[in-house]
Amino acid sequence: MVEYEAVIGLEVHVELRTKTKAFCSCPNEFGSEPNSNVCPICLAMPGTLPVLNKSLLEYGIRTGLALNCEIAHFCKFDRKNYFYPDLPKAYQLSQSDFPLCLHGYLDVETDLETRRIRINRVHMEEDAGKLVHGEGNADYSLVDLNRGGVPLLEIVTEPDIRTPEEARLYLENLKAIIQYLGVSDCKMEEGSLRCDANISLRPVGTDILNTKVEIKNMNSFRAVQRALEGEIERQHGLYETGESIIQQTRGWDDVTGTTSLMRTKEEAADYRYFPDPDLVPIHLTSELVESIRKGLPELPAARKERFMDDFGLPAYDAGVLTSSRELADYFEKCVSDYHDPKKVSNWVMVEFLRLLNTHNMEVRDAKLTPSHLVEMLQLMDQGTISGKIAKTVFEEMFATGKKAGIVVEEKGLLQISDESKLAEMVEAVLSAHPEVVEDYRKGKGKALGFLVGQVMKQTRGKANPQMVNKLLLERI
Ligand SMILES: [Zn+2]
Repeated sequence: MVEYEAVIGLEVHVELRTKTKAFCSCPNEFGSEPNSNVCPICLAMPGTLPVLNKSLLEYGIRTGLALNCEIAHFCKFDRKNYFYPDLPKAYQLSQSDFPLCLHGYLDVETDLETRRIRINRVHMEEDAGKLVHGEGNADYSLVDLNRGGVPLLEIVTEPDIRTPEEARLYLENLKAIIQYLGVSDCKMEEGSLRCDANISLRPVGTDILNTKVEIKNMNSFRAVQRALEGEIERQHGLYETGESIIQQTRGWDDVTGTTSLMRTKEEAADYRYFPDPDLVPIHLTSELVESIRKGLPELPAARKERFMDDFGLPAYDAGVLTSSRELADYFEKCVSDYHDPKKVSNWVMVEFLRLLNTHNMEVRDAKLTPSHLVEMLQLMDQGTISGKIAKTVFEEMFATGKKAGIVVEEKGLLQISDESKLAEMVEAVLSAHPEVVEDYRKGKGKALGFLVGQVMKQTRGKANPQMVNKLLLERI
């Protein structure tokens, strides 16, 4: 039986967070009143002239450098011609044969190895408007041109990705880098990061490129992985039964978890690219590129290394904490005021991330700040609260934004470290469970845990566990 491997390439569109649009001075804002961020230029009135937004160029260079690309000394804009109701000019300004950045790469780490995914190109272009279909059962569609002319980068890989998991890892890494650069917020749900995938199969050990299928409409990294898994299965089935693969575009449906045919190659558009006569070609000097390179922030891979070196964190912790710039900043703020990075890491990775996920929140939305966490850890160190109680305090701080000391006081969560009080409880537990005491004496180590548990239960978790242990051992 022939063993197949997947050949996957990804195209990612990133909406840039510039103040204004790509070729006019309209605000670049998500969620404004429909058709409020528009002007004669982005509405494609005859006789208007586009002017390149310098930030688009700069953000493009930053992204290219962070992805290890060569920055072209010469590039230009081309018209990509097609008709669609959300595109009043009937062409999109894009870059065809002379893109801004070429020949980069991004390394991703799977469980087994580091995989280098080559990047074919990064180019600049503008977004189209948006159609709103059937609002309130209407039998017509509306067009909102606020997004028309918003600056985009298109980042295209070589077909170097071999598994759906690698595709997801590549996207996660790419998103982190772009967020670190501060050029986009990468919100898939708001469309500021969009991904299309190309995929074909071939027998393992060959380097042929078979007919590929394009998949669109994936709205999360998880969806990309699932869509690719499904497509591998579909193509595999076709090869097994001797049918041929037809070049086509398929749309992903997140609800049914399947793809369906959108269009075949016969209908594929011919964009009739030609150089835009309104925008002058761009000549970039090495000085400009180097000055932008010097201004790049520390990127996720470097920061991960530093977290391992400086804070002695395991690779796993460092990877999770540096996966977003905000989270890494949060962690560093904590450890600047607290001596035990591993302890901070545990609380941030386990409890903090869990609560953020549960409430679908971003780090910046959290009422629980680094100073909240540091104060709570200090209360634990002083023996004011136990580890078990700390979890309750943490959740309360997260929900209300109250400081640890206030929560402990309001909820009466002080740890009981009064020896005579605890001794009384220990005596009571021992006389209530003579059989367990007997078990322990016969060598059943677990029995002690049960007895400690009984005391903790009576105090609703507030007893100092070390002290309870000590008191029990003295008496058994
Ligand atoms: Zn405009």
